[in-house]
Amino acid sequence: MILADFDYVRPVGLDEALTLLAGRPGARVLAGGQSLLPGLRTGEDRASLLVDLRRLEELRGIERTPTGIRIGAMTTLAELAADPLVLAEAPELAAAARANGDPQVRNLGTAGGNLAATGRATDLPVAAIAAGVTAELAGPGGVSTVTAEELAASGVPAGTVVTALLVPAGGRAGAFEKTADRATRYPVCAAAVRITADGPRIAVTGATARALRLRGVEERIGGGPYTTENVLAAFRAEPRELFVPGRGTSAEYLGHLAGVLTARALTRAVQAPA
Ligand SMILES: Cc1cc2nc3c(=O)[nH]c(=O)nc-3n(C[C@H](O)[C@H](O)[C@H](O)COP(=O)(O)OP(=O)(O)OC[C@H]3O[C@@H](n4cnc5c(N)ncnc54)[C@H](O)[C@@H]3O)c2cc1C
Repeated sequence: MILADFDYVRPVGLDEALTLLAGRPGARVLAGGQSLLPGLRTGEDRASLLVDLRRLEELRGIERTPTGIRIGAMTTLAELAADPLVLAEAPELAAAARANGDPQVRNLGTAGGNLAATGRATDLPVAAIAAGVTAELAGPGGVSTVTAEELAASGVPAGTVVTALLVPAGGRAGAFEKTADRATRYPVCAAAVRITADGPRIAVTGATARALRLRGVEERIGGGPYTTENVLAAFRAEPRELFVPGRGTSAEYLGHLAGVLTARALTRAVQAPA
């Protein structure tokens, strides 16, 4: 399809970007364009102005902080997948980035963009929920933070830029598993886990209406053992309506697949070097 008309700007600083976003109804952030540009072509997305963040060097890079890891929102998925610090201390995030699309998508698509992209099934939000990630936002009201779980539920408010993903420390025992759609590479279903001192944190997407943390499953399997049998029994006890039929996949099949992927992820997380 032919793109509808829109204006385009490439600000050099975050303040300028925020002023541009606030100044025009229908202004949208453009990061890697891997979701937004296809959406504009099909008419699923609309924009009067695209505010391109690619010159904002302050939104790039990955660094250790006193509380964990800070991932700049404009860090590409390819950079995230290959970063030694992320691989060692947030392996579920690295694996979700590595599972995303194809090399072209990963070289252009960004961490902030994948976290902000709405839709039933995207990879990074589910891993971010399991990892306990908080998103740092900059908007008209200043800087704020929101959990990845809240962001998946409510989306990024208009006029707001995700500036960074803040990953808590101590996450070696994390893992991500995905069954990809063969044509698109999007997840049919994906599961991410992180084992913490309080027990496992478990999130799934694809089988559910959006990326969700499954506290009921967490409580049922508690301290383990994380056998496939136990995990599947914990998933079967979830309300049936939690699992939503997909394209050619029944809710029952997706609920079972979510359990299988979770069991695999837990096994991998338990085996992670301490
Ligand atoms: C062929 C193909 C295969 C794909 N496969 C997968 C897959 O397997 N798994 C998957 O999860 N995704 C997949 N995608 C989608 C894509 O990888 C991600 O959604 C994409 O990386 C989003 O990042 P982006 O930087 O390209 O965001 P953009 O497309 O630029 O933006 C996406 C949305 O987020 C908003 N946004 C972007 N950055 C910010 C920010 N910093 N602050 C606030 N809002 C922001 C934009 O306004 C827009 O609404 C695929 C895409 C293609 C084209």
